[in-house]
Amino acid sequence: MAKTIFAKIIDREIPAKIVHEDDLCLAFHDVAPRAPMHILIVPKKPIARLADATAEDRTVLGHMMLTAAKIARDQGYGDAYRLVVNNGEGAGQTVFHLHIHILGGRPFTWPPG
Ligand code: 5GP
Repeated sequence: MAKTIFAKIIDREIPAKIVHEDDLCLAFHDVAPRAPMHILIVPKKPIARLADATAEDRTVLGHMMLTAAKIARDQGYGDAYRLVVNNGEGAGQTVFHLHIHILGGRPFTWPPG
């Protein structure tokens, strides 16, 4: 499988504005932000889609959720933010390395578009 853009960011082959890193995940600003805060959090393990995650990924997935909440708090948006996971092309996924969008700083409609 060809390396995704996010794997290249993890390996520092291309630059990104990194806001958090630990042994399980990396978080960085989206290159085309859709909100005043638009950060992506990705597992270091190359899971293509949420649908491809297994029970053995439960620790990293839980860790990413808790880390997303901490990042939103640290960025000053702890009271109102939205987490989005696009799974599959039909849902808008364009980079096939699992990621959670962390969005904040503007009103969000429901249901999402
Ligand atoms: P998806 O559509 O797969 O849910 O989200 C992929 C996201 O990755 C998009 O919001 C897009 O703007 C972002 N993205 C694509 N290429 C790059 C890149 O090279 N650097 C960064 N920081 N974000 C990227």
